[in-house]
Amino acid sequence: MCVFCDIIDGKIPSKKHFENNDFIVIDDISHKAKKHYLLIPKKHYVGLFDQSEDDAIKLAKMLRFLPSLQSELGLEDGYRLIINQGGNAGQSVMHLHIHILGGEILPIAP
Ligand code: AMP
Repeated sequence: MCVFCDIIDGKIPSKKHFENNDFIVIDDISHKAKKHYLLIPKKHYVGLFDQSEDDAIKLAKMLRFLPSLQSELGLEDGYRLIINQGGNAGQSVMHLHIHILGGEILPIAP
């Protein structure tokens, strides 16, 4: 069972801000910044290590497209993308996702 697959399948409700054939952007249920979204591929894979080449190309294209969503997401003044990859980074949902944080001045990150 994967919570993000259930969200993608509509079995678990979410606040969806964007959807295309390959991705959704939803509100994170537990905001760590004023704006906190998750960019999630519809295809289930755990992380960067088990991506196919096609997955990687789709993700790169999605990231290139992301700036065109920034005003409707309230991110005009900047945002931060984070991938928690594996246990040491605190990945808790084993379906690749990118956190999108913004809507305020964020603490300085490494
Ligand atoms: P990570 O710790 O990087 O794996 O991030 C998982 C994220 O998924 C956390 O920020 C959670 O708050 C978020 N999350 C878990 N369940 C849901 C859900 N049902 N809807 C939206 N976000 C969720």
